[in-house]
Amino acid sequence: MEVIWTLQSLSATACLDIFLVAAVIYLALRLVRGSQAASLLRGTIIIWLIVWVLSNFFPLVAFSWLLRSLLLSLAIAVPVIFQQELRRAVDMVGRAGIRILNRPGQETDRQRVIREICAASEVLSDRLHGGLIVIERRDHLDEYINTGIPLDSVITADLLTTAFWPKTELHDGAAIVRANRIAAAACVLPLSAVRRMPDRSMGLRHRAALGISEVSDAVAVVISEESGHISLVNNGRFVRRLDAKRLQTILNEFYGEPPQENLVQSIRTFVDELRSGL
Ligand code: ATP
Ligand code: MG
Repeated sequence: MEVIWTLQSLSATACLDIFLVAAVIYLALRLVRGSQAASLLRGTIIIWLIVWVLSNFFPLVAFSWLLRSLLLSLAIAVPVIFQQELRRAVDMVGRAGIRILNRPGQETDRQRVIREICAASEVLSDRLHGGLIVIERRDHLDEYINTGIPLDSVITADLLTTAFWPKTELHDGAAIVRANRIAAAACVLPLSAVRRMPDRSMGLRHRAALGISEVSDAVAVVISEESGHISLVNNGRFVRRLDAKRLQTILNEFYGEPPQENLVQSIRTFVDELRSGL
């Protein structure tokens, strides 16, 4: 009854207030989703809940003081620990602004990146040079980026074709694209353990592409050194024998924009994350 009474007496400003707090928590959770920072955030929320319960229901003055002090030091550590997530947040706001300012018909950054990747795939395929390009989406790929040679570079077809030139230091492994830049090359990806690959000639490069698509929502483009065939791998599935034009159409169609969750998905994700933390 009390709850209903409280809800009825909420003013429009109070509703806006609650909405804003919920939006900030939601955005923070979405940003850290899939990263190591997610468990840290969950831990912080749990400690905060414990402090709240203890200080409200039990007179444990010294203990709740200790936990509160710990929380305070965590607040100071947050900008350092969440450095990457904060960068992504600022980047997201920037990109949203650019999208609003972009006139229809104007090529977005993401579309340019896709065009360069497709142009590189075509050249690699013609030269029979093997290639493996992974596009990071929502799930963080730090674990795999850290195994490679860091580049953090603007993406151009020339850079990609040079990176995959045989016998160079960069060619062996995968190039990983994060936020429209090449984060690293020569990265080692997890190998898929499936018994049968769609094609007998597919070896470790294709297994690695399949592997990363099984453990994350990343998209991988593979160029075969043996046949020159271009394939796209997503969610454990191959789309084979693509030409550069079809590859570009598919990438633009499905990955032209960063993935957006709908409200129901977001609430489900939020509940799942809290549940797995408890
Ligand atoms: P291709 O059709 O080009 O021959 P393939 O699927 O048959 O490809 P392999 O011939 O076994 O694969 O290719 C080996 C290359 O795959 C290695 O030189 C390396 O660049 C890449 N590779 C192998 N394992 C991994 C891995 N775990 N992560 C990323 N790249 C890998
Ligand atoms: Mg081979």
